[in-house]
Parts: sequence; structure tokens; C-alpha cells
Amino acid sequence: MGISVAIVGSGPSGFYTADALVKSDVDCEVDIIERLPAPHGLIRYGVAPDHQTTKNVSRAFDKTGGDGAVRYWGNVEVGRDISLDRLRELYDAVVLAVGSPFDRKLGIPGEDKLGVFGSAEFVGWYNAHPDFRDLNPNLDITGAAVIGVGNVAIDIARVLVKTREEMATSDIPDYALDPIQAAPITDVYMFGRRGALDAKFTNVELREMGHLTNCHPVVDPAQLPDSVDDMENSRDKRLKERNLASLREFTTLDPAGKNKRCHFAFLASPLEILGGERVEGLLMERNEVVDGRAVGTGETFEIECGMVAAAIGYQGEPIEGAPFDEWSGTVVNEDGRVADGLYAVGWIKRGPTGVIGTNKVDGRDAAKQIVADITDGGKPGRAGLESELRAGSTRWIDYGQWQRIKAVEEESAPAPSPRRKLATVDEMLAVLG
Ligand code: NAP
Repeated sequence: MGISVAIVGSGPSGFYTADALVKSDVDCEVDIIERLPAPHGLIRYGVAPDHQTTKNVSRAFDKTGGDGAVRYWGNVEVGRDISLDRLRELYDAVVLAVGSPFDRKLGIPGEDKLGVFGSAEFVGWYNAHPDFRDLNPNLDITGAAVIGVGNVAIDIARVLVKTREEMATSDIPDYALDPIQAAPITDVYMFGRRGALDAKFTNVELREMGHLTNCHPVVDPAQLPDSVDDMENSRDKRLKERNLASLREFTTLDPAGKNKRCHFAFLASPLEILGGERVEGLLMERNEVVDGRAVGTGETFEIECGMVAAAIGYQGEPIEGAPFDEWSGTVVNEDGRVADGLYAVGWIKRGPTGVIGTNKVDGRDAAKQIVADITDGGKPGRAGLESELRAGSTRWIDYGQWQRIKAVEEESAPAPSPRRKLATVDEMLAVLG
């Protein structure tokens, strides 16, 4: 029969692992278990709705999902419908591909005010993630602040300032598009705690901010160094040079005719979120960089804003039955090996960094380890999972059923939008009757 492998999580790291396993020369049966009905994790719920080409990778995942050796179990939650320990009894190998679902906290006073969001919840909201469908942020505001200068921060800033026409080819749900478009936002501030060259966003994303219909990118030229110092890695140096060139170009752009501004502000950290019950502003401290770290100078300033999105990274969630390192927010592992027959891939293995393709390497490595470590232990695998779920009340969906949900989402989209996502579990299950 071959080896049985359960992969927990259906984002890129889970699908790349399944793909590598079915392409290996070992006979295997691979089950992908996903908490939500819809697969593909951050491709569906994290990648920005206006960056559809990045989402095309899900076509490759559809091929894997349709492979005869692979079975998808959507709407099945490990920890609720079946425990990790039980999965390990049923399968020869279990792979944790659960990502990093939680927002890192700023840890400053005022973080509990209305209008303060972590990026996972705010991005999840405008991406129709069922957990955040009802976030209902108050966008009757003129200023919004985003903390962090990574790609997630720039995604949030861009989605807040793009025009309806610029979002037409996106799959943003109407419940998010309408309030964003109606919002009287004029100024979005992105704050980097270190210097302009330390920003983590990539150049394609940065350049796009210079070409928006109704938003002018604002950069203080005094914050831009003349050149990039020599670096060990010449590719890293080139990337920084590109970002510097883009930021410098922003300072030459004509703001005329643009009603919104996106301020790229560096060398500043939030000290306190100001306001009453709701956010009204931010108290910021100017920083200097010492040995690569941001150090406060004691000089402070305030900005007015009615919303704060902290896009400062994510962390994993402890899983009962797997050792967890609170500090890094990852499952304790040695190059992906967690325990006998238990593996980790993607962000829960190495933390929330890298691009989608980085998970391909994880998947390949995990498949190699499984092929090297595991032999058919005669465990029940898929049949065992099915009888376990039948005994409970879990309503799981398979890949064919997911394709039906997907078809409904595509058919209901007003052209040129590719889909109108169903944003609740009930709506998705209702499609299946
Ligand atoms: P990220 O790239 O690690 O950026 C996090 C940002 O938050 C950094 O600017 C960081 O500054 C800042 N930060 C962290 N803690 C802070 C604090 N306490 N106060 C102020 N600032 C703080 O993380 P991300 O933007 O969440 O992205 C996660 C991963 O997904 C990245 O690998 C990213 O490239 C990827 N991604 C890619 C795309 C794309 O390719 N288009 C889109 C979205 C996400 P320091 O540098 O000083 O720590």
C-alpha cells in the first residue's frame, strides 16, 4: 500500500510537500487536512486581492489536489475534530504546515483601543477570511497608520488608497471595497523603526506606490542616504540600491491632482496609541540606528490617525502534541524533524519569512526526510481518518467539492474581477447543499 502521510494545513508549504511526496519514487497516500473549507492558505487569504498574478500558483496546487494519491479534507480542524496524537497513530508520518496565524503585538499602551488591528486580521478582513469577516473597521477616518515597512505593510497601505477602478481586477469582497472606497482617508503613514535602506519591502511593491492614480508617495529626502554601503552579498546591495532609487524618484514626483498621500516615514517607533475608546493618534519617537538596531533618541512627535495596523510580523500557534518555542513562535524542530514521524514545514518550521517559493524547498526537504525515515508501518491512514470523522459530526469537503465552491465564486464575479469569495463557512457549505 505504501506509506501514509497526513499534512496539516493546505497553504503553500502543505501543497508543495504533497507535490514533492507524490513525485518521489516511493508509493504514498497523502491526505491534506485543512481547518477551513477553502484550501491554499495565504495564497487565498494573505496575498493582496489586487495582486492576482501571485495567486496563479494555486493552479499548480489544483493539479496536486487532483492527483489520485492525494485526498483533501477541508473543514476538518486538528485539535477539534481529531487530535494530533490520534493522527500520528493513524498515519506513518504527519507534517505540520499550519503557518503563523497570529499577529505579533506592538506591546505599547493603547494597543487595546478600537481601531487598532494586527495585519493578519486586517488583511484577512479585506481578503474574505471567515475568521475576520465581521471585523467591520470604522473607516470614517482621514488618517491611517501602518507600523512596519515590509510587504504586508505596503499591501495594506496600497489597498487603502487605490481607486475603485484600480481594484476592478481584484477579488476584494464588496463588504470591504465599499467602505474603503467611501472612506475619507487622505493620509496613510507607514512607519519604519530603522532607516530607509533597512525596509523589508521588495522593489516591485515599492515602485507600484509611485504609479497610483490618486495617491502621491511622500518621502523626506533628508531620510535618504546618498548611497548604499558595500555589503557582503552583492545581490542584497543591488536590492537596496533599487529601493533607494525608487524612494528618491518619489521625491521628484508631482503631487498635483492626487487627493491622497502615502507617507514613508523612517527612523520612528510608536510609543503610545492615543485617544479615548478609539484611536485618535500616535505618539512616535524618533530613532537612530546603532549597530543595526533602532534606538530611541527621546525626541517625540504625534500624528493624527483613526486607525493603526501593526504589520510587524506573525507568530505561530501552539499545537497540542507538538513542542512549541514561545520565543520564536515556531514548533521546535531540527531542520524540519520534530519527533518520530512528525515533521514541520513553512512558517511553523522557520518563522514568517521568505516568499511563496521558499516553501517549495521546505516541501522538497520534508519529502526527502520522510522517504528516508519512514517505511510502511501498516497503519490505517486515510481509511482510519474517514472512520474517525464519520464517528464524529464533522462535515468534511473533498477537492471536487472545493472546485464547486470555486466555480460559484467565479461565476458570481462581476467582470473583470476573477471571483467573489464566499466569506463564511456556512455560505461555502451551503453551495454544496
Ligand atoms: P517583514 O517582512 O518581516 O516586515 C516586518 C516589518 O515590521 C519590518 O519593517 C520590521 O522592522 C517591522 N517591525 C517588527 N517589529 C516591530 C516593532 N516592534 N515596531 C516597529 N516595527 C517593527 O514581515 P511582513 O511584512 O509581515 O511579511 C512576512 C513575509 O511575507 C515576508 O517574507 C514578506 O516578504 C512576505 N510577503 C511577500 C509579499 C510579496 O512578495 N508581495 C507580500 C506580503 C508578504 P525591522 O526590519 O526593524 O525588524
